[in-house]
Amino acid sequence: MRIKVLGCYGSEMPGYKTSGFLINDDTLLDAGTVVSVLSVEDQLKIDNIIISHTHLDHIKDIQFLADNVIGKRKRSINLISIHGVLDVLRANILNNIIWPDFTTIPSVNRPILKFLPVKEKEELNLGDVTVKPVKTTHTVEAVGYVIKDKDGAIVYTGDTCHTDRLWKTAMQEDNLKAIFAEVSFPNGMAELADVSGHLTAEGLNEELRKMNRKQVPVYVFHMKPQYLDIIEKEIALLKNRRMTVLRQGDVIQI
Ligand SMILES: [Zn+2]
Ligand SMILES: [Zn+2]
Repeated sequence: MRIKVLGCYGSEMPGYKTSGFLINDDTLLDAGTVVSVLSVEDQLKIDNIIISHTHLDHIKDIQFLADNVIGKRKRSINLISIHGVLDVLRANILNNIIWPDFTTIPSVNRPILKFLPVKEKEELNLGDVTVKPVKTTHTVEAVGYVIKDKDGAIVYTGDTCHTDRLWKTAMQEDNLKAIFAEVSFPNGMAELADVSGHLTAEGLNEELRKMNRKQVPVYVFHMKPQYLDIIEKEIALLKNRRMTVLRQGDVIQI
């Protein structure tokens, strides 16, 4: 599995883009950043978008991607998540008010976007990879994912505060190769992290103790860019060698 980091921050400012990861060229894991990074040719290769939750920093480029590729590809792009997340997207974004309902355009039978719901903790087969959503702890309904292919599995937290379900599910994977975990705020802002459903570096360190997989690398994303320097220092102070702070453009091969 090849994972390209299109954006990996908790907000947007010059040089920093919101969360979006490209798996094996055809599957997006969250879509906070897509169209400003990928050429239209590469955008046309995308068949699946796996969505953790409906906060804008994870979904905003779905809309522009649909706009860019409509009329240029025949198959629909699958929007994959649990029912609750897709329902919010339908009611509040693709509602013909905020943005056209691209699940009915250009026609109801052959739309450019198609909802593909998956039940929590059920595995959905997407060809080369399978995805399994697991609920996390956030301010809106949100899931993380276990994503697998023949090379192994990764776990992606999406946005979360302290949680047990995801780690328990991840521990069932014998061939876990990488953890993609959020850290949004500095340790000194733990209270804000808590109320906004996020983690600090110390918070993530506590979470990782729930897993008996000390050798699996941890890739940290979703840092609020205005606090990136502090967060990087705090992660370094943990002296946890398996932790790497992701940067845009990184490619992780497992
Ligand atoms: Zn969020
Ligand atoms: Zn977020």
